[in-house]
Amino acid sequence: MHTFPKSIERLIGQLTQLPGVGPKTASRLVFYLLRDDRVVLSEFAESIANLKADLVTCETCHNIADENPCRICADVARDATILCLVEEPLDVLALERSGYRGQYHVLGGRISPMDGIGPGQLTIDDLILRLKAHSEIGEVVIATNPNVEGEATASYIVRILRDLPVKLTRIARGLPMGGDLEYADELTLHRAMEGRSALSQEAA
Ligand SMILES: [Zn+2]
Repeated sequence: MHTFPKSIERLIGQLTQLPGVGPKTASRLVFYLLRDDRVVLSEFAESIANLKADLVTCETCHNIADENPCRICADVARDATILCLVEEPLDVLALERSGYRGQYHVLGGRISPMDGIGPGQLTIDDLILRLKAHSEIGEVVIATNPNVEGEATASYIVRILRDLPVKLTRIARGLPMGGDLEYADELTLHRAMEGRSALSQEAA
């Protein structure tokens, strides 16, 4: 069986660990890197090597950021009365593109017994503390992904937050079922946010 030189095989192996990258795509990428003079490999390698070094987690919203608090949490011009609950940092990016200008809270995943992820591994406790400390937050929009695990996570959070004096809403169902927020186009996401519906009434 024909094999590539070791250094090429190694990089192909590493690239196939990435989501959506099979052996064919990985091979193509490696040969592109070898061939194309516009790609400065040392700079490429440096970006990857330093990827995590300059990043921090925002202690307020748990998004990844350059600084703590992150630029979104530090921005006083944003709406402080509404908080959008998402699974991953990429969802923040998607919602920013949709025009949303409130606060965020990044859960750090979704409840998934199959993957051994329970509520304790998510940032739900911090969310509760945050809501108690910031009474100006009057609405929490639950924007977990519209798939089985995302819905289960949303239901769990509704139960946990039900007794807090905050209105709970869920983004509208215009999003494709089974889809991921990060892949939704801006308009669909904007409409989903506009069409959000109440999950509970504000406690009297
Ligand atoms: Zn933040």
